[in-house]
Amino acid sequence: MTQVTVKELAQVVDTPVERLLQQMREAGLPHTSAEQVVTDNEKHALLAHLKSSHGAKVDEPRKITLQRKTTTKLKVAGSKTISVEVRKKKTFVKRTPDEIEAEKQRELEAQRAAEEAARLKSEEEARQQAEEEARRKAQAELEARAGSPVVAPAPVQEAPVEAVAPVEERKKEEPRRAEKSRSDDDERRERKQAQQRPAAKAKAPLSRAVRSGDDDADSFRRGGRGKSKLKKRNAHGFQSPSGPIVREVAIGETITVADLAQQMSVKAAEVIKFMFKLGTPVTINQVLDQETAQLIAEELGHKVKLVSDNALEEQLAEMLKYEGEAITRAPVVTVMGHVDHGKTSLLDYIRRAKVATGEAGGITQHIGAYHVETERGMVTFLDTPGHAAFTAMRARGAKATDIVILVVAADDGVMPQTQEAVQHAKAAGVPIVVAVNKIDKPEANPDNIKNGLAALDVIPEDWGGDTPFVPVSAKMGTGVDELLEAVLLQAELLELTATPSAPGRGVVVESRLDKGRGPVATVLVQEGTLRQGDMALVGSTYGRIRAMLDENGKSIKEAGPSIPVEILGLDGTPEAGDELSVLSDEKKAREVALFRQGKFREVKLARAHAGKLENIFESMGQEEKKTLNIVLKTDVRGTLEALQGSLSGLGNDEVQVRVIGGGVGGITESDANLALASNAVLFGFNVRADAGARRIVEQEGLDLRYYNVIYDIIEDVKKALTGMLGSDVRENILGVAEVRDVFRSPKFGAVAGCMVLEGMVHRNRPIRVLREDVVIFEGELESLRRFKDDVAEVRAGMECGIGVKSYNDVKVGDKIEVFEKVEVARSL
Ligand code: GDP
Repeated sequence: MTQVTVKELAQVVDTPVERLLQQMREAGLPHTSAEQVVTDNEKHALLAHLKSSHGAKVDEPRKITLQRKTTTKLKVAGSKTISVEVRKKKTFVKRTPDEIEAEKQRELEAQRAAEEAARLKSEEEARQQAEEEARRKAQAELEARAGSPVVAPAPVQEAPVEAVAPVEERKKEEPRRAEKSRSDDDERRERKQAQQRPAAKAKAPLSRAVRSGDDDADSFRRGGRGKSKLKKRNAHGFQSPSGPIVREVAIGETITVADLAQQMSVKAAEVIKFMFKLGTPVTINQVLDQETAQLIAEELGHKVKLVSDNALEEQLAEMLKYEGEAITRAPVVTVMGHVDHGKTSLLDYIRRAKVATGEAGGITQHIGAYHVETERGMVTFLDTPGHAAFTAMRARGAKATDIVILVVAADDGVMPQTQEAVQHAKAAGVPIVVAVNKIDKPEANPDNIKNGLAALDVIPEDWGGDTPFVPVSAKMGTGVDELLEAVLLQAELLELTATPSAPGRGVVVESRLDKGRGPVATVLVQEGTLRQGDMALVGSTYGRIRAMLDENGKSIKEAGPSIPVEILGLDGTPEAGDELSVLSDEKKAREVALFRQGKFREVKLARAHAGKLENIFESMGQEEKKTLNIVLKTDVRGTLEALQGSLSGLGNDEVQVRVIGGGVGGITESDANLALASNAVLFGFNVRADAGARRIVEQEGLDLRYYNVIYDIIEDVKKALTGMLGSDVRENILGVAEVRDVFRSPKFGAVAGCMVLEGMVHRNRPIRVLREDVVIFEGELESLRRFKDDVAEVRAGMECGIGVKSYNDVKVGDKIEVFEKVEVARSL
């Protein structure tokens, strides 16, 4: 144990004795004079005290310098000795964490700079090589042309002497990006680094972009400011002599992860990984919005071309523009009316009497449209009686009909489908010519028809209105000429014209797949002239027209405006209402057809939104007065009239309500089509939609609502008008059973033997009894049995016995609907 005095210790630690004594006192040591002895333990105590009392305050020695002195003796010639003293000094610096971090950063930066420089160098080499190549080629070409060697012009840009050149060159190449993304400081630093480390080894930067998530995520968040720097680093993943492969990525309003990856020629997993690093997990089929997709593509070093989704269609519309002399064309007519009022008879009569069928065999087939010549001119009939066809076509955006012939049987009167026909024609803005049919019948009462139709605002000409009423007999042919004349008169008022010299355009009336001939489409030519051999784009199908047949099945070479033809040669069956255009360019036709095929799904999805009561106004422009169209079906006339009145009165200066279709009875396919064509919502008051209507509602995403309280309808519409449609109670139909038989039981009264058609019938849920889709009773079940057992529920496809509480008038064919009420939040 070594012992020293305070004085000695003071000397060792290089502190004045007084100060040391003071510190020792503070440490609780007894020393008071310089001569006192300090033991080892006391030294430790002092040290501990100093440490704790000063802590961070005293600058801890951050630097320790070790000095070492070695002396060696050299013997030289003779006995002479020389002392050699070697002094070594080594300094250790204790660094703060910040400094350590900074050091790491420096290292990282150095590494990056090295990579950058190497990449720039390789790019430069590639560029030079390419230039050299081009020069050689040019020279060769020149030589070939001149027949002797020519001195190639020097390249405009000399190969760089120092590594700084490539940076500037890149800047020239992409001035926009460079300006946007690089501060001057960045630029300078990078240049310096490039100068300092011209030949470091580059790593694969593409994968690094994915790996170095934080860094890249940061630049991503900055909204692309760091893009070019990243781009530079990520431009290519290996030392390729051909330079970076920068692809042009076309991004529409949306793009799936898979499509985006494919366009960039990377695996979808790369994109997913990249997005994951940015904190957004995506799936391969996920649809990215344009902005996100653009950022990804640019981050990964590709060029982005933003395309409007409709660019192709716009291009097409541009291509189809044609100027030429317009001449009058024949009107196209659709025949509508209530069932059994004589539509088919009328069409058949006209066809028989008027269509030139001189050829052997006469009418060989039925093509869904035909034209007739009269003294006054030509009329074309769309031979698809019924509103469904008419409105289905209109729903697809095609207007094929110029005039509607409304057939009303004079011995009957205005019937539900007559009413519907009027609604459809009015909704389409197509003038009506009324054929008062069956006037040969003794009980015919044409005035009754006039009264009935006037009530629907179809006012006869002789009453001061604008609708011609022509008495006819489809059976005898009486009045048919007058009818056609009336049609042609209306047509004159419409001033229908077309340009026969233009390339053909038209609309599909119907199509089918013929076993021998492939897809066959009946097309009504609307503009220009359609010729055999034309390249036709029809909806999402296309093909060269191999053959063209007229309505008699006769082969023809060309067809002008308002002429219906059958065409062969398409690659698929288009849909009724699809448009036909003739294109000179097969490639374009294929491109658009494919584009439309892809688009179809999205349109359907988008449409599912458009027809909803909640957002029906969103799809409308700002200028027009906003209109809520409603198709309303009720159980009784009184309710219909009451509702029509109150709903129409709900509008104000900015919004209006129009009941464009209404009637008594279940919701039919025709109602659904009308709603679809007019962007209307469907309301059923105590009535239900039939299977056909439900199919359209589901397919097209229409808004169909059932009500049983007038107040509820009015409230919902009011809320829709103010955009306040919040959560509402909607009914869910859980199951439907059809009554197949009715038994009388002394215990339960009438018991209905039922087959469950849809869903599940529950014992304890409210029910309604429907007859022909009209609600006739609402209540609850008395009993639900399978064979002799009481059960809680019966599922579709099973039979059961249902007793309805306090209701005994169940009939075979009735439907029993089980429902529940659920609160549905407003969905957008
Ligand atoms: P659609 O259901 O509207 O196509 O009606 P149809 O053309 O099938 O005609 C229904 C029934 O009415 C048929 O039995 C026809 O023979 C008959 N019918 C059609 N037009 C006339 C007519 O002008 N006079 C008479 N007496 N019967 C007619």
